Amino acid sequence: MNPNYTDSEGNATTNKIESVLKRLEEIRAEEKQLLSVLENLKTKEKNKCGQYKIKKSKVLVIGAGGLGSTVLLYLCAMGVGKIGVVDFDSVESSNLHRQIIHKENTAGLPKVESAKRAMNELNSGCEVETYNTHLKSSNALEIFEKYDIVVDASDNLPTRYLINDACVITKKPLVYGSALRLDGQVVKYNYKGGPCYRCMFPKPPPFDKKASCSEAGVLGVVPGLIGCIQALEVIKIVLSADSPQPTSSYMLSFSTYGNPQFRQFRIRNRRPDCEVCGESPTITSLIDYPAFCGADSTDMAPVSKVLEKSDPCRISCMEYSKVRKSGQPHILLDVRDTDQFQLCSFRGSRHIPLDRLVSEGQEYANGDNSSTGKESQFKNLVDDAKEKNLPIYAICRRGNLSQSAVKALREFANFEKCYQIDGGITAWNKTVDDGFPFY
Ligand SMILES: [Zn+2]
Repeated sequence: MNPNYTDSEGNATTNKIESVLKRLEEIRAEEKQLLSVLENLKTKEKNKCGQYKIKKSKVLVIGAGGLGSTVLLYLCAMGVGKIGVVDFDSVESSNLHRQIIHKENTAGLPKVESAKRAMNELNSGCEVETYNTHLKSSNALEIFEKYDIVVDASDNLPTRYLINDACVITKKPLVYGSALRLDGQVVKYNYKGGPCYRCMFPKPPPFDKKASCSEAGVLGVVPGLIGCIQALEVIKIVLSADSPQPTSSYMLSFSTYGNPQFRQFRIRNRRPDCEVCGESPTITSLIDYPAFCGADSTDMAPVSKVLEKSDPCRISCMEYSKVRKSGQPHILLDVRDTDQFQLCSFRGSRHIPLDRLVSEGQEYANGDNSSTGKESQFKNLVDDAKEKNLPIYAICRRGNLSQSAVKALREFANFEKCYQIDGGITAWNKTVDDGFPFY
């Protein structure tokens, strides 16, 4: 105590100061409490604010191709805080018609880098993490753990099953999209007690029935449209995180020539016996998906192994180009589906879609030409070739379906003078004639 204030007046002053200091401390404590209440209120308000929720969200997109292009651009533009992009492929200028996130000047770059560039230019506030790799059983779970929602923008079956199972295991909602030819679908899987992809498709379809964009082709704007809807579904999940469980799940389906073009179908509930999301799952860790689907997930090389690589009937586009130049009489058999054939074809080629070739081939082999009630194009083809002693050259988009065509001609008609053009019209465009329409 200060010796100058030892009198009664001094004591009173000291007491006064002490009580003021005490009050000041109380006021500070109250202020701190009020500030914390205010902070809480602010956070609660912020959490209610959609933009804040979007900013806090972390979304993983598998595939930076046709679907991924619009998903990534819109999620980035809308302010998603963190976006992960997985893709192993490089930008090809021939794909720019449907992969609009990439540019002519990023051709040759890894797709994830090209996508990141476009996203940074669009919204520098969005954190973009790139994974320039195949999504595999060995890396999927580790990547998925870092995100809240996963978008399937891939284009092949093994990856689709892998993404589904990894989403179930890591408990992430999955926004699935697919686009093929002129049609597309969007479904939310593994969301609020709804089904997973495996509940819908417990087993992969057999080889001939499955197709990827690269094999079957797609009209550029269709994946763009489907990608936009996927981005919308992601934002709906982010914003409605607290809303009650939906009573059923739906598939949104789009068809270019449909009437109506958009339709919504109710899909089945979760299967209690689903191998991955059911009550006693047998798949509790990731499996070998290419083996499960009987296909390769790279989509870079032909997935079909119908004919051995060394089979003498497999010829390159250059070899076929010599046949054409020499004027050697032959039949060029195009086995793509009708939509694609109408898009572009070789002059004078004969068109029989593979499905029809195979089914009529089976009838031909059984000696039954009457069951369909229509003329057998398979029979006409084989009769013409045998009569005029013409070889048949089979072509398709990537060189997969044409292998099955050769197999069908051999098996059902014992016709051996047939050849398969490796790489199909895709390779023709790259190695023989870059003026040939490409899609
Ligand atoms: Zn399931």
